[in-house]
Formats: sequence, C-alpha cells, structure tokens
Amino acid sequence: MAQIGAHEGPLDPALARSHAVDVVRTLQKAGHRALLAGGCVRDELLGLHPTDYDVATDAKPEQIGELFRSTAHVGAHFGVVIVRTGKGEGVEVATFRRDGDYSDNRRPDSVEFASEEEDAQRRDFTINALFLDPLAAEDAPAIHGHVVDYVGGLADLSARIIRAVGHAEDRLREDHLRALRAVRFAARLGYEIEHDTARAIREHAGQLRGVSVERIGHELRRMLSHPNRARAAQLIVELGMEAPIFGEHIEHALVRLSRLKPESPFEWALAAWILDRQGAGAKIAPYRRALCLSNDESAAIASIIEIVGIMSGAWEALGVAGQKRLASREGFEGALAVFDAEDSSSAMMVRGRVAELADTPGGLAPEPLIGGDELIEMGFQPGPFFASVLRDVYDAQLDGRISDLEGAKSLAQKLLGSGNSGRPGASHS
Ligand code: ATP
Ligand code: MG
Repeated sequence: MAQIGAHEGPLDPALARSHAVDVVRTLQKAGHRALLAGGCVRDELLGLHPTDYDVATDAKPEQIGELFRSTAHVGAHFGVVIVRTGKGEGVEVATFRRDGDYSDNRRPDSVEFASEEEDAQRRDFTINALFLDPLAAEDAPAIHGHVVDYVGGLADLSARIIRAVGHAEDRLREDHLRALRAVRFAARLGYEIEHDTARAIREHAGQLRGVSVERIGHELRRMLSHPNRARAAQLIVELGMEAPIFGEHIEHALVRLSRLKPESPFEWALAAWILDRQGAGAKIAPYRRALCLSNDESAAIASIIEIVGIMSGAWEALGVAGQKRLASREGFEGALAVFDAEDSSSAMMVRGRVAELADTPGGLAPEPLIGGDELIEMGFQPGPFFASVLRDVYDAQLDGRISDLEGAKSLAQKLLGSGNSGRPGASHS
C-alpha cells in the first residue's frame, strides 16, 4: 500500500513535519506535554504522507499563545490554536480535551480540557487516536516504541481494521459524518470495518440526511479522488448510505467506476458513478445539491455524461465536423476515459478516429477562416443570423469543403445572399 494516498500529501511533507516537530519541541521545552496526534501518526506508521500534522498538548490556549510569535485562535471554545512557524502552513495545536454533548449530532456543544487519555477517547477510530512523541523518536530507530496508544489503535493498524473508539453505537450516534469517514479510511487503506462499527454505521445511515451537504460533499470528493474509489462506493451502498446521500437507492453495478484509471480526477469518477447508477439519461441537479458541487464541477460532470451518451450512440453519424467539434469540447478527455471504462473496444475506435481527425489540415479546432468582422466588411448588417451562418461556414471548414478565406467568403455570401430564409441580403456598397 506504499503509494496509496501519496497524491493527497502536501507539497512538501518533510517541511510540514519539521514545523510540527518544532512546535512540539517548543512546548516540551516550556515543560508541557506535547505530541503529534491523530491522522498524522496513523499515516506515518503506515509509511504514507500525512495531509497535515496536528499537535496535542496539555498547554492551555493562552499558554500556547504566549510561547509562539504568531498564533490564531480558531474558535477559542474548541481549544484549537494555529501556530505559524515561519512561512508555510500553520500547525494546528489542540489542548487535550473531551467533547461535550453532541446535541446537533455534528459538533460538540462545548469542549472541556481533559487528560491525554480522554483526548484519545474522544477521537473517532482507534487508528486515528494514536499519539507520537517525535522527539523521543528522533534518536531511536523503533518508531513504535514512542507511540502512545490508549485505545488499541496499534493492534487495529496491524490487523487492518477500522474500529470506533469506545461504544460504536454511541460514537456513530454522536456524529453521523463518522460513518462516511469510516468508509473513506477503509477504502483508502484497504481495511475492513469491524463488525460492531459496521452495524452502528448501518443503524445510523439514515441520519446522514441531517449532515450538511458541504461535509458530505467534502468526504465524497476525497473518496472518489482516490484510486480505491470503487471500494468506497461499494461500502456506501452496502452500509445503506446511498439513499441518504443521493435521495434513492438504485440497483446498479460499479462497472465504469471500478474500471476507471486510478489517477482519474473527482469529476470523472462521479460522472462514472452516475452513469453506473442511472445511465446516460441521468440528471445532474440532484447530485449537485446532494454533494454541494461547484458550478465548474457540475458543468464538467454534465458534459462528460452527455458526451459519453453521444459516444455510445450518435458518434458515427456525426460526420467529420460534428466529431471534430465534439472532440474539442472541454469534457471530451474525461468522457473518453469514462467511455473506455464502459466499452473499451468502442473507446479505442473513437480514440483512433480522433487521432485521424487531428491529423487533417488545421487539426480538430482550427482558427475559423472568417468571423463577424469579415461579414461586416463584406457589407452585411450584423444580426442574429450571423451566428448560424458562421457555424455553417466553420462546419464546411472542419469538413475540409473550404480551406481558405476566399472559399469561406463565397460560402458566406451564398448563405447570406440567398434571400430565401428571411435573412437580409447584402447591402449596397
Ligand atoms: P485525513 O487528514 O487524512 O483526512 P485525519 O485522521 O487526519 O485524516 P482529520 O479530519 O484531519 O482526519 O482529523 C484529525 C483527527 O481528529 C483525526 O485523526 C481524529 O483523531 C480526529 N477527528 C476528526 N474528525 C473527527 C470526528 N468527526 N469525530 C471524532 N474525531 C475526529
Ligand atoms: Mg488530518
């Protein structure tokens, strides 16, 4: 699994780590307990690049503020301080705490500072609840020796298990997003979700409806960007989360999603999954709402779905101009990747055809021989019909029926001057 997750890493993981270790050192020198905590410890133990480094300490936010030149207190009541060390991203430093009640099932109402052990117990999964003293580890080869494990996280890492910390039912009831986090970690790492944890996820799956679409969208984006995306989708379906997320359960096989190339971006993956669920007739609007997609994301996904539909249908009938136009569209590359996952031999034919077309004079998307300015120069009054004439002229250019300015002008003249479509003819010059 060495490479899994590597693409999620920050630009310079070594720098991020050294900043976090500097923070730990400063806190320890001032007499505090300070440790790397959570996801970064898990990832380091697995030989993966952490996306970020978090520090946990017994120092209170005010004390942290006094030790560092530049700090920002993010929601002082959550007890988290961002410490900036020189340039680069800040390191999140959180005072050991237990979470208060979860009356809205999302965020604890309050935090109370607490012991190191209680801080481990408030975390979601055992593999996410480990601490590591990076300074103790500096001159010792056995990194495991300096891991502080209150919840059996090391054993679960070895056994490749996602297990809720404490009573699974309670932990899933407190925060329904944990269900999706469990799936994301299980898929990313190739782990099994432990039996009681899986049962609790199933039990509370319906309540995902109450989680904000931003948070759900964020998790889905991360899962679908990862090479193990099909496993994540399969778990979502198996654990009963498909309807709460997308509005309904639809019987489907993950054909395209599972065959997509590992490095495919989120938009391709979601388009593939939507096509697996609903075929080419799928509407993007419900997904847009459910996952809080941006305008760009939904446009890209809608375009892929539409183009895949054309590739598996009208492609042959498009003719040279139509095929060239389609091949130059923004979503074409993604569509071809998804179509490849659907029907690789047909996709290979499309790819071959596009290579052929790219080889023609001017290629797939040559500069138009004429535009509105030339039509005006020719003496025509601008009007809404300009667009359709220019489109016809450009089609002729793409088809190879015309290849120079003269040809373009004379075709435009013919189209505009025919006078049989209610279009104004040439004015006198
Ligand atoms: P990654 O950064 O790769 O998503 P992570 O485990 O670091 O994984 P973060 O969201 O960065 O996840 O959270 C950092 C740590 O905070 C987690 O490892 C976990 O200990 C704790 N945590 C995060 N979200 C929750 C939650 N919803 N419930 C309980 N603990 C959580
Ligand atoms: Mg993290």
